[in-house]
Amino acid sequence: MFGVVNYPKNKANLKLNSPTDEKSSANQIFSENNQQQTAQSQSKPETISESDFHWMTQALLQAQIAKNKNEVPIGAIIINDNGLVAATHNTRETECNPVGHAELIAIQQAAKTLQRWRLSDCTLYVTLEPCSMCAGAIVLARIPRVVFAAKDPKAGAVGSLYNILQDDRLNHRPEVVQGILETEASEMLKAFFREKRKNKV
Ligand SMILES: [Zn+2]
Repeated sequence: MFGVVNYPKNKANLKLNSPTDEKSSANQIFSENNQQQTAQSQSKPETISESDFHWMTQALLQAQIAKNKNEVPIGAIIINDNGLVAATHNTRETECNPVGHAELIAIQQAAKTLQRWRLSDCTLYVTLEPCSMCAGAIVLARIPRVVFAAKDPKAGAVGSLYNILQDDRLNHRPEVVQGILETEASEMLKAFFREKRKNKV
């Protein structure tokens, strides 16, 4: 069975760790990353491809859209061999929906697009570690591969608090890849909450 693949921090985090980079536009960040990826592609683990960076970048752009709507910036993408089947972001505030998490909406959107509930040919990209609800939905949808960027020590259910995607008692255990564009996803979230706190004072 698959284990969690942690993308090496020194490769994934590139040169964007400094908080001073926060002011850079998303596009600048992503194009810098793309240049770095090419240079370092030879040392990547087998299961991580260039397309993983591409799709995680798209997920981050979805997170940015959420941020622009004053939503917690979390984005999700689902692809299969034919390309994109879902691109969504957190909608909890705008929809007044406690379950409006990016990956849950993406799963529903993908199932609608493909006209089937079983997403056994899909990969899910999400900018933050899925919670227990979303991890449960990933199992129910039979998604075989999950790629997430930042860990969520407060609610993560893919290794942080629980490990639902690698629980032998369940009938489905996807491959999990963690760490691609982790710093970018994490910084976006931190900056969002910093701003929120500042506005409260
Ligand atoms: Zn969730």
